[in-house]
Amino acid sequence: MIGIVSDPIFMDHDTGGYHPESPQRIHYIHTLFYQNTPGIMMIDPVSANVDDIELNHDRSYVRRIAQCCRPGKLVNLDMDTVCSEDSYNIALLAAGSVLRLTGMALNKEIDAGFAFARPPGHHALRSNAMGFCIFNNVAIAARRALKSFGIKRVMIIDFDVHHGNGTQDSFYGDRNVMYFSTHQYPFYPGTGAVSDTGKGNGLGYTVNCPLSGGKRDGHYIAAYRYVLAPIIQAYEPELILVSAGFDAHAMDPIGGMDLSSKGFGAITEIIRDAAREVSAPIVFALEGGYNLNALKDSISCVVDIMKGGASPDIAPVSGPELDTMIRTHRKFWPLVHQ
Ligand SMILES: [Zn+2]
Repeated sequence: MIGIVSDPIFMDHDTGGYHPESPQRIHYIHTLFYQNTPGIMMIDPVSANVDDIELNHDRSYVRRIAQCCRPGKLVNLDMDTVCSEDSYNIALLAAGSVLRLTGMALNKEIDAGFAFARPPGHHALRSNAMGFCIFNNVAIAARRALKSFGIKRVMIIDFDVHHGNGTQDSFYGDRNVMYFSTHQYPFYPGTGAVSDTGKGNGLGYTVNCPLSGGKRDGHYIAAYRYVLAPIIQAYEPELILVSAGFDAHAMDPIGGMDLSSKGFGAITEIIRDAAREVSAPIVFALEGGYNLNALKDSISCVVDIMKGGASPDIAPVSGPELDTMIRTHRKFWPLVHQ
């Protein structure tokens, strides 16, 4: 059974007239889940409490966000992150929904979960909003899972076209949370070099797989098959959280990649099958994805795979970037190979 949080209430985070991270994204996605669908359990969103948020953010920052959200006002939190009257409450609901699905997945009430919530989270820093993100939903869920469920290994997989600098920052010196990311590079926000592999106790537990623009399904399949899958096998995460952004889609107006909707399904199939081998539940949290039809299509492919479907065969494509990833990450994870 797949637990899905999809609710029009997430349209109440108002980003102004022309913002790509628009309420319409939720409207489009929600049309996939209007009716009762076999294999899907609809889960109501629930607010995170402030203690949960403070597992990953400074108290003063959380207060600042609460105070910024006032009637009739749009406040710029950074260059491109806006909050409106309801944004604080909706951001609490977004984080709370990922927390709820994570708890249900760890309690085996659902096999997997997907929170179609906004604002997104992976750029949000400890005490700063950034890149459309206010609270780091997956980082909060990872910290809560470690604290309340007695687990020791959480893996965050991020296939958004942008590097999740906020998430990487949160766990850069921490081996209890591994961060794996494929992202366009160089690109916003500028972080995510292949040589950034963590520090101290966390050395080797940040796995960056940067790719230059224009990459297709096969390049992504190669990174997931040859780098991610063997690392899952070796690390044996007890929970997998996915920062699921769909802005690497060929139709996306912001990203410069060339993925198809089925490509997202194929990536998901590799994650699903590797997770099954180590019995790790998977919870997806929506990040980017700004072409509305591509967003809806890609999510439909991902959900089909999570319900047990199979994706068409996509041949992996090698290249010098893949070689560098393999050479770098094999130092820490000898199973990584082509
Ligand atoms: Zn993005």
